[in-house]
Amino acid sequence: MSSETGLRDIDRKARARQPAVKYVRRPVEERILDFEEAVLGFDEETAKSEALRCIQCPDPQPCLLRCPAGNDVPEALWLISQGDFIGAAKVFAATSPLPEVCGRACPNLCQDGCVLGRYYGSISVGKLEAFVADIARREGALAITAPNEKSGKRIAVVGSGPAGMTVAEDLVKKGHQVTIYEAWPIPGGVLVYGIPSFKLDKYVVQNKIHDLEAAGVKFITNTRIGENITIDDLLKEYDAVFLGTGANVEATMNIPGEKLDGIFQSTDYLIRANVPTEMLPPGRREKPVIGRRVAVIGGGDTAVDCARTSIRLGAEEVTIVYRRTEAEMPGNKVERRVCIEEGVNIKYLQAPVEFIGDEKGQVKAMNIIKMQLGEPDSSGRRRPVPIEGSEFVQEVDTVILAIGYWPDPFLGEKTENLGTHKWGLIVADEEVGASTREGVFAAGDNVHGPDLIITAVASAHRAAENIHAYLKGETIKWAEPPPPRRK
Ligand SMILES: Cc1cc2nc3c(=O)[nH]c(=O)nc-3n(C[C@H](O)[C@H](O)[C@H](O)COP(=O)(O)OP(=O)(O)OC[C@H]3O[C@@H](n4cnc5c(N)ncnc54)[C@H](O)[C@@H]3O)c2cc1C
Repeated sequence: MSSETGLRDIDRKARARQPAVKYVRRPVEERILDFEEAVLGFDEETAKSEALRCIQCPDPQPCLLRCPAGNDVPEALWLISQGDFIGAAKVFAATSPLPEVCGRACPNLCQDGCVLGRYYGSISVGKLEAFVADIARREGALAITAPNEKSGKRIAVVGSGPAGMTVAEDLVKKGHQVTIYEAWPIPGGVLVYGIPSFKLDKYVVQNKIHDLEAAGVKFITNTRIGENITIDDLLKEYDAVFLGTGANVEATMNIPGEKLDGIFQSTDYLIRANVPTEMLPPGRREKPVIGRRVAVIGGGDTAVDCARTSIRLGAEEVTIVYRRTEAEMPGNKVERRVCIEEGVNIKYLQAPVEFIGDEKGQVKAMNIIKMQLGEPDSSGRRRPVPIEGSEFVQEVDTVILAIGYWPDPFLGEKTENLGTHKWGLIVADEEVGASTREGVFAAGDNVHGPDLIITAVASAHRAAENIHAYLKGETIKWAEPPPPRRK
């Protein structure tokens, strides 16, 4: 609940009728020529005017309720409207350690709750959050303060994405000593090795990493836990282990021709196109070579990112091929509109059933089948059902597969008593973050499956709270091992 809202004497009707203030996005013809951030955002005056539209809803405030981390949006908007940008950034940072990241990349769950949305346009909370967080980070106002008195407890965090960073920050603030192990050369998880720079510049993440380092968090990169160092080794050296290992194994389609040249997996494509060479391991530094016609298979944020990347790499025709309709499409609606603005076509109710190659083994076409929607599946979305006899051939030069992710089953396989589900997800109570192995906690995409930055942050906060309780000697309810799998 907001601390101040409800006490404020404001003319809500007048505020609601104020026209929405647009933030600045670079012109299409300019932004598609590079990988720099597409959104320039607000300046001081426009930020204040946009925040002034907030009608400071009485409890329950829908924006606050919709944010998985519980950001006190009305309070932050009030401070922005008063010109207190640093105060506002601190309000966002009180519940989310990554306000400048979420401000740029969150699908704006809070905005979907804004009561102004229906008639007047919801407030651009995300872009306001990024605006104030950038100022505050620059001014050092979001520096992380670790207490002088240390607890003497040591925690190993595996994975440096949003979940790992959140746990590290929460625990270092409690006086514990935190070391983060990361497989990639640079910390940041998908924020660096996934989300393209035109949505989230790498420097934004690196500034956060510097603040964590300044607070005493130690980073050990280029180290994949489970190989030379196991979780058992970590448990001997540390008082607790947190697994924030994400869901980074890409799903495959299992259809003929998938291994042809010119067919890329989304992450490999995105990182080689976007991540500066010096941040990539040797062997993955070559830019992807693409043809004139690119097809991206999938429908979520990753597919949209791959399509926008293809436009920036110079493709003339970029098409997203999605097997359901727009109504079932996951991901950020605004980003989808932006990708169309940048020249991407979206074909709904279609799916490739075969990739066809030329004599050199290079993809040259896809055999596509049309779909219709059937009954809802376990996700609640209507299932795509192939229409018999509707197949047709579509010529293409490059294909990018962006059809989903699973956690790496590797850690589960290498660690005794660490329960995993059949897709490699780690068994842990999402409210507690405790795994089936005493002393080992987990949260983020590796527990709830591929989702969002803010959901990883929210579940990591809960895990950190319970790690702290465990380190103080409180009893933790460890997760039950899953029943044995049927062969
Ligand atoms: C292309 C793409 C675009 C996306 N766009 C958005 C978006 O716009 N908005 C949004 O909210 N969400 C987006 N998401 C989802 C979001 O990025 C994830 O939900 C979020 O990063 C999950 O955080 P995490 O900390 O659980 O995992 P991750 O960010 O995946 O971090 C896990 C880290 O653990 C490391 N790791 C794994 N195993 C080991 C090991 N054994 N040893 C050492 N290190 C290990 C990995 O290398 C990785 O760095 C996107 C995802 C992708 C792939």
